[in-house]
Amino acid sequence: VAALRRGLASTRGGFIARLAQIFGGKKEIDPALLDQIQEVLITADIGVRTSEKMLETLRAKMERAELRDEDAVWSAIREEARAILGASAGGIEVRSKPTTILVVGVNGVGKTTTIGKLASRFHEEGKKVVLAAGDTFRAAAVLQLEVWARRVGCEIVKGKDRADPASVIFEAIKKAQGDGADVVIADTAGRLHTKSNLMEELKKVVRTAEKALERPVDEILLVLDSTTGQNAIQQAQLFKDAIPVSGIVLTKLDGTAKGGVVLGIVDEHRIPVRYVGIGERIEDLREFDTDAFVQALFA
Ligand code: GDP
Repeated sequence: VAALRRGLASTRGGFIARLAQIFGGKKEIDPALLDQIQEVLITADIGVRTSEKMLETLRAKMERAELRDEDAVWSAIREEARAILGASAGGIEVRSKPTTILVVGVNGVGKTTTIGKLASRFHEEGKKVVLAAGDTFRAAAVLQLEVWARRVGCEIVKGKDRADPASVIFEAIKKAQGDGADVVIADTAGRLHTKSNLMEELKKVVRTAEKALERPVDEILLVLDSTTGQNAIQQAQLFKDAIPVSGIVLTKLDGTAKGGVVLGIVDEHRIPVRYVGIGERIEDLREFDTDAFVQALFA
C-alpha cells in the first residue's frame, strides 16, 4: 500500500487534497457540501456519470442523517469506490497451456513496457514465456520487444517486415504449443489514425489466435494511459466495440493527477482492472487490488 500510495501521490495531491479542503475545519456537513464534492469528483476524471452515481448515494445517506461528520463522508466515499471497483480482480492466472494473452491499446500507452514487465513476472514465477511481436507495422516496436525478450530470457516470435500480425501470433502460439510453453504474450498494433483498419486487424488476430488454440484466448488485455484521463474511457469503448476485452492495465498512474479515472473506466465499462503501472521499473507493474487501491487513494 505504501508504494501504491507514493505512486498515487499526484492524484492524492490533486482531487483528494481538494476534497479535504472542502471539509477544512467545517463542523456542519450540509447538502451544499455535497455539491462541492460533486464538482471535485467530476473534474477529477472520474467522469460525470460515475460522479453523479457516487453523489446519489451520498445524498441518500445524508437524508438518512448518516453523514454527521467528515469521517462519515470519507468512509461513505471509500465504500462507494469499493463498490464500483469491486468487480476488479488483479492478476492473470496461468492455467490453460499456453495461457494466451493478447495485449491491445493505442501507441504510446505503455503496451510494450507492460508486455516486458508481464513476461518478467511470469518468468520469475518459473513459467516458460513466448512473446509474439504482433506490431509488425512498427520496426521499433519489434526491436523494443526483442530487448525485453533478451532481458527476461524468453523466446520471441517475429515475422518479416510488414508480415501479417495474425500470422505472427498464430506462429507464436504453435511454437508455444510445440515447446510446451506456459504463456504467450502477444503485442498488437496501435495506430489509431487508421481506426477501422486497426479494429479489423485486431478482430482477425483474435480469430486466428482462437483457431491456433482451438478455444477462446485467455485474456484480451487493454492497456490504457491514465494521464489521458477521460480519453482513456473513450478508448476503452472503441476497443470493446470491436473485440471482447477482458481486462485492463492502467499505466502511468505515477505521472498523473488523473488517477480517479480508474473509477470511471470500471464503472462505465464493467471490465476489471488487472494491473496498474506506477513507474518504469519491472516491479512497478502491480496486480490491482481494490482494497489496497482504495486505501492508498483515500486513506
Ligand atoms: P507503446 O507504444 O504502447 O508500446 O508504449 P511503450 O511501452 O513504449 O511506453 C511508452 C512510454 O511510457 C515509455 O517511456 C515507458 O517507459 C513509459 N511507461 C510505461 N508504463 C509506465 C508507468 O506505469 N509509469 C511511467 N512513469 N511510465 C511508464
